[in-house]
Amino acid sequence: MDFKSLVSHCKEYGFIFQSSELYDGLAAVYDYGPNGVELKNNIKAYWWQSMTQMHDNIVGIDSSIFMHPKVWKASGHVDAFNDPLIDNKDSNKRYRADVLIEDYCAKIEGKIKKDVTKAAKKFGESFDEEQFRSTNGRIIDRQKKIDDILGRMGNYLRDEDMVSLKALIEECEIACPVSGTKNWTECRQFNLMFSTQLGNIAGEEGKLYLRPETAQGIFVNFLNVQKTSRKKVPFGIAQIGKAFRNEIVARQFIFRMREFEQMEMQFFVRPGTEMEWYEQWKATRMNWHKALGTPESKLRFHDHDNLAHYANAAVDIEYEFPFGFKELEGIHSRTDFDLKQHQELSGRKVQYFDPELNENYVPYVVETSIGCDRMFLAMISNALQEETLTNAEGVESTRIVMKLPPAIAPMKAAILPLLKNDEALVKAAKDLFGEMKKHTKVTYDEKDAIGRRYRRQDAVGTPFCITIDHQTLEDGTVTVRDRDSLEQVRLSTKEAKNKVLLETQLATLL
Ligand code: ATP
Repeated sequence: MDFKSLVSHCKEYGFIFQSSELYDGLAAVYDYGPNGVELKNNIKAYWWQSMTQMHDNIVGIDSSIFMHPKVWKASGHVDAFNDPLIDNKDSNKRYRADVLIEDYCAKIEGKIKKDVTKAAKKFGESFDEEQFRSTNGRIIDRQKKIDDILGRMGNYLRDEDMVSLKALIEECEIACPVSGTKNWTECRQFNLMFSTQLGNIAGEEGKLYLRPETAQGIFVNFLNVQKTSRKKVPFGIAQIGKAFRNEIVARQFIFRMREFEQMEMQFFVRPGTEMEWYEQWKATRMNWHKALGTPESKLRFHDHDNLAHYANAAVDIEYEFPFGFKELEGIHSRTDFDLKQHQELSGRKVQYFDPELNENYVPYVVETSIGCDRMFLAMISNALQEETLTNAEGVESTRIVMKLPPAIAPMKAAILPLLKNDEALVKAAKDLFGEMKKHTKVTYDEKDAIGRRYRRQDAVGTPFCITIDHQTLEDGTVTVRDRDSLEQVRLSTKEAKNKVLLETQLATLL
């Protein structure tokens, strides 16, 4: 399904609405509707349980969005949390300079892919993509060009060399997609933190920031948590919460928002062991994604070309969104940078006494950081499909179906009386609904013909439809329709209930 249809499906079926739509919306801010909030809560529950329930050495916290302003000085966000910005003078549109360059490279990559697809068609089964890429002259040149441009861009970003960054845009002859001109302003750094003001303190002193990441709430609570939970290094602290970034370019729906939610886990380890843990967390996190049934071909690791000021190793887990492979999650070896900085700026010791080594040290940190909203988008774009069905008479029809893992789906089952005018059927269906809703999320629907009701449930990903018909009144059995296989089985109401509970629980993923 194309991206535009996905966005309208999300609105039509109550997954995502633009914020303040009545007032024509607020750019890059979105609200989750009735189905959306259920799906999002299920994603969070899966992450939370994977972290805090499946690991006895990880505990959770919920820290505040507002923090002491010095936190952001210590973390480096006040001085260095910038994106390079550039304006087109004719369209007055604003862009991230690095994104313009990346998009330019993605176009070249697109050309490479076209050549590969063509060749694959031509050579058929015997086609060896790797060999083709490494021997085809045109592809080699194009790949070299991409590597050169991205390599230089990385250096300029690291050195904050805005003049060379602009020169690179000019060298690539990148034009504004809106005006079509190359009439650019200078490139300059733009800090992504939103700020606000405390009511009782005037001026700089009272300046507060909305947190741009949840991680710092974990770092400043390191000692509180370690002492009260009596955890020994290595151990982790997990948190889910809102983060805010004044993104320059707000595009691609909920992929890049100004207000979003992060699921972060900081794992504190002995200095010198961080690389082992980094490798371990890379594998653990990739398995977490695979357990959802996401095809392996849609997931890949991407090592960071230039490391952030705090990291000694960093990798992204990228997902193939409808607009290409993009970062879904980051895994970073953050060294002892943050804890040391907080130690310095607070003037307090932030150290751990290791009873086995009999020494004090500032632990090293390996973090896993994933955007809940990006995960939501990845899930929806993988699950939402338009399917052609052929019935017993050979007649074709199409259906829109959201093949979400049952444990993540907003509703676990729909209870449907075959006819809404038949009191006995309605009563039996409502009785079952009343019983099942105590155990899990179910929905009741009696409007329209049964086929249309099935389609409605398919469109929001409900894994099971339980239909109550006249036979139910005779022998207490119901039909259970499977969303994906479309198979219908007759079971007793008790069996149907147990099947739904068993097959939709989070344990199927953990
Ligand atoms: P990007 O390069 O896409 O701006 P980032 O490298 O700045 O992302 P991190 O600081 O590593 O992102 O944040 C961790 C995770 O938080 C990301 O992997 C992503 O899933 C999520 N995230 C970051 N910024 C946003 C945003 N503006 N909207 C939604 N999710 C975001």
